[in-house]
Amino acid sequence: MSTVYLDGAFLPRDKAVVSVMDRGFLFGDGVYEVIPVYSRKPFRLDEHLRRLHDSLDGIRLTVPHAIAQWPATIGRIIELSDSDDQSVLIQVTRGPMDVRNHAFPKTTTPTVFIMSEPLVTPAEEQRAEGIAAVSTADYRWLRCDLKVTSLLANCLLRQMAIESGCQETVLFRDGHLSEGAASNIFAVKNGVLLAPPKSHLMLAGITYDVVLELAASHGLPHQVRDILEEETREADELWMTSSTKEVLPIVTLDGHPVGHHENAGKPGPVFWRMYGWYQDFKRTVMRG
Ligand code: PMP
Repeated sequence: MSTVYLDGAFLPRDKAVVSVMDRGFLFGDGVYEVIPVYSRKPFRLDEHLRRLHDSLDGIRLTVPHAIAQWPATIGRIIELSDSDDQSVLIQVTRGPMDVRNHAFPKTTTPTVFIMSEPLVTPAEEQRAEGIAAVSTADYRWLRCDLKVTSLLANCLLRQMAIESGCQETVLFRDGHLSEGAASNIFAVKNGVLLAPPKSHLMLAGITYDVVLELAASHGLPHQVRDILEEETREADELWMTSSTKEVLPIVTLDGHPVGHHENAGKPGPVFWRMYGWYQDFKRTVMRG
């Protein structure tokens, strides 16, 4: 049984219990982070913690736990886990309340939870084949920049993909690409990598940043700008990115092959270059 951290204590996961009056349970009033760990080293830890603090600020939740204490606690959870490659979840809610009331309690005792699970990255065959995606209107709220635990819309949208025999749902808002149900989406057109700009309409992915940094450092032409739905459908390549999926090529969208000519419906050449850079970058980080 894996060891988790809950409100100052390290304990077996089946002994970690949260109150039914916790606002995380009753309202989804909380934020979270998922940090990939390779060879027991957390990947981009500072960036994940900065985003966690931005999300906490965004929901106006102050945690007594200073940012300086997080790495040691996370380090301990990593040490106590069996796998070398892990996925660490940090979740902070606004804690329990005495009576059910939407307004914040006068005094707040946040619930802080950290656990680790083995990291499951996509199998090589899946990466080589690419994945199928469906698309739909982005019906989520207007603070998609916050990584909040109220994930019902994201769950429904991911489930839509699964029930269509696909792996991800690509979201369009007002005729523009926003992101995936649980990923950021990139397009490639005529050798140029296109990424939607960070805004309240999407989560600023840590992997998204890595991909853009790698494009810049390897001289891959790229543009961060609004991408029309039509451009997305006519792209030469589409990718999804996330901490656990890394970079995955989307080869069909709503049943239509992505791309043109001999590359239609197959992972494209720009994807393979980026994937190589990403793996090299990971190796460098793990050595350092
Ligand atoms: N957008 C959404 C809605 C997500 O859930 C995720 C995955 N957490 C991402 C984007 C990708 O973010 P990251 O690269 O930091 O995992």
